[in-house]
Amino acid sequence: MKIGWKRPSQLPLQWRLTLWYLFTLGVILLLFATFLYFQLRHTLQNQLDTALQLVASQAVINVDRDGGRLAFQNVENESGGTLTGDDFVIYLLAADGTIWEKSGQLAEGVVAPPAASGFTTTPTGDDWWRVFSQEVSADGVTGWIQIIGNMDPINDTMDRLLAIILLGIPLALLLAGAGGYFLAVRTLQPIDRMTQTAQTISASDLNRRIAYQGPADAVGRLAQTFDSMLDRLQTAFERERHFTGDAAHELRTPLAALKGRIGVTLGQPRRPEVYVETLQEMEGQVDRLVRLSSDLLFMARLEQGQMAGRRERIDLPDFLAAVVDQIRPLATAKAITLTETIPAGLSLLGDMDLLIRLFLNLLDNAVKYTPVNGRVTISAVQQKSELHVTITDSGPGIAAQHLPHLFERFYRVEDARSRLDASGSGAGLGLAIAFEIARAHGGSLRVASQPGQGAAFTAVFPQNSAAAGAAQ
Ligand code: ATP
Ligand code: MG
Repeated sequence: MKIGWKRPSQLPLQWRLTLWYLFTLGVILLLFATFLYFQLRHTLQNQLDTALQLVASQAVINVDRDGGRLAFQNVENESGGTLTGDDFVIYLLAADGTIWEKSGQLAEGVVAPPAASGFTTTPTGDDWWRVFSQEVSADGVTGWIQIIGNMDPINDTMDRLLAIILLGIPLALLLAGAGGYFLAVRTLQPIDRMTQTAQTISASDLNRRIAYQGPADAVGRLAQTFDSMLDRLQTAFERERHFTGDAAHELRTPLAALKGRIGVTLGQPRRPEVYVETLQEMEGQVDRLVRLSSDLLFMARLEQGQMAGRRERIDLPDFLAAVVDQIRPLATAKAITLTETIPAGLSLLGDMDLLIRLFLNLLDNAVKYTPVNGRVTISAVQQKSELHVTITDSGPGIAAQHLPHLFERFYRVEDARSRLDASGSGAGLGLAIAFEIARAHGGSLRVASQPGQGAAFTAVFPQNSAAAGAAQ
């Protein structure tokens, strides 16, 4: 893979993961190595110091007065072997720095008149020396004893450790980096596969799914979410396809009728009354087309949320009485009894024009599909946090298999349609529009019906748009 100079945030994910991993590991290793280095150094130096002090305490016992100065007792030669072994050099000094006794040989300049008791570190050329000074006195003569240890072994050990660290950390990072990269690539592989599947899915082929088989971890959940999103997309696409087909069909039917009628009329000369009659018939078809297109436009605006902007408090009894009055002539013509039972004080927050349309559509259906001498009732009730407005009729009712589709655009129950004359049959948009209006108000539309038992349509509004001015 080609990696030019990129900002880290623009690197591929597997590289970013690896780099973060390396950075974290590098910091940890560095901290650990630093701690180890200084801890070891401290321990080794402490050991040396303890040994120096031990030798000093032994040497002090052997110091005695020899005339005007101090001297070691029981020392056969100057090698110091009896006292110290070969590791340390021992000096017995006067306060002014004059050497009284020594065991072992040292480079010039190591031994200096001691300033105080305790430890000092002195370099000579390449060597470092650790010096422990302690005051001694015997029979009134005072001097200094110095035990000197070579720090070379410690320094050698530390140098070796440093070399291991300097070589080991980059090597460990290299190996860890390779492992980390491999892991990152493997972890991202299912996502890569998902991407490939997703790329093969197009609007015309929404049937494909990722169908991830792995565990329900982050990747599994992503795959599931993606699949269910595709389900919804497919449903929406199919709905849209149906809708376009249905709309085209609905528009074509009156247009074809118009065209046929025009063709027949123009086929031969006719009396003026025939032209008038034809034009009147054509007006009916055109009216239907105009209604259909304005319904479609209305639906589109409603779905895009361009409507239901105005909210006003509507007094329900007055409002529904006015809506019922609009439909009354139709009911009277069919000798249908139209009654309303709306408790006083109920009110609703919403868009007046839209709500008129909602209830007119429901009442229109009820009156349209209920046979002569039937009954249509409109009632309202406040239920907990909801306002329910129900329109009940004594019509033919709706079979259970139609109920789930009733609010779909262009859906019509064929039975009901065939019972009505051509002028009474609508496009099947009335309930879809009513449903969308209820939804635009945060509510919903429900239906309960059984064949032969009439139908009840209930518009439900949540409390924030419904208010019980006078709770009964
Ligand atoms: P439009 O309302 O667009 O003029 P429509 O009335 O046929 O046409 P909808 O109002 O959406 O369409 O109703 C859909 C179908 O539901 C109707 O065709 C009818 O079969 C059935 N339907 C609606 N209301 C009732 C009812 N009260 N009783 C029996 N069937 C009903
Ligand atoms: Mg209708």
